[in-house]
Amino acid sequence: MKGPFVIAVDGPAASGKGTIAKRLGETYELPVLDTGLLYRAVGVLAQKAGDIDDPAACKAAAATLTADQLADPALRTREAGELASRAAVHPHVREALLAFQQTFAGQEGGAVLDGRDIGTVICPDAPAKLYVTARPEVRAERRWKQLRAQGEAVSLDEVRADIRRRDARDGRRDAAPMRPANDATLLDTSEMTIEQAADAARRIVEAARARWETS
Ligand code: C5P
Repeated sequence: MKGPFVIAVDGPAASGKGTIAKRLGETYELPVLDTGLLYRAVGVLAQKAGDIDDPAACKAAAATLTADQLADPALRTREAGELASRAAVHPHVREALLAFQQTFAGQEGGAVLDGRDIGTVICPDAPAKLYVTARPEVRAERRWKQLRAQGEAVSLDEVRADIRRRDARDGRRDAAPMRPANDATLLDTSEMTIEQAADAARRIVEAARARWETS
């Protein structure tokens, strides 16, 4: 039986995947879940509870997480991104967050989810999969501007180092490492404006939707 129309948008930090996911949600009138927020919330909770590198503390934080905690602006900070990536290496954390994400994806009518492992682990059968990427230098500059607009005092060099460290940790971990699904379409946004990237993503999803409708 044909499942709901799920759009999986994966990719590294500041690749543009969050903006693209939001735009796709608007175009197709689908709810959007930024799954990075789940890991950010777990990281922040585990840090408050004691030790971010303690798998048990992270697992406990993941088990108590509720959807209403995801709106906290504190989850958008540079520190929360780093804590998220450290919490996300623990397999039990990923397992604890699996059902929430799959329930969201299973909504009637479909959904858009953005993250690192949506197309590979969370929704391997998603009819539309994008892997959004951009050169590390471009991503660092984007994230730097974003953090400064949020009022964070941080240098471009520090953000470059953050991006390098997170790419390495997310890509090399054993549990659901960041990588494109075999059937994902790659979208490099390095030379694109937001509008161009959103248009390119729509074209990819249009083609996937046409295949899904006739399947
Ligand atoms: O996308 P965002 O930068 O908010 O993600 C924060 C961190 O959460 C990532 O660096 C990654 O370690 C983790 N993450 C993940 N799987 C996802 C989404 C985020 O491991 N699906």
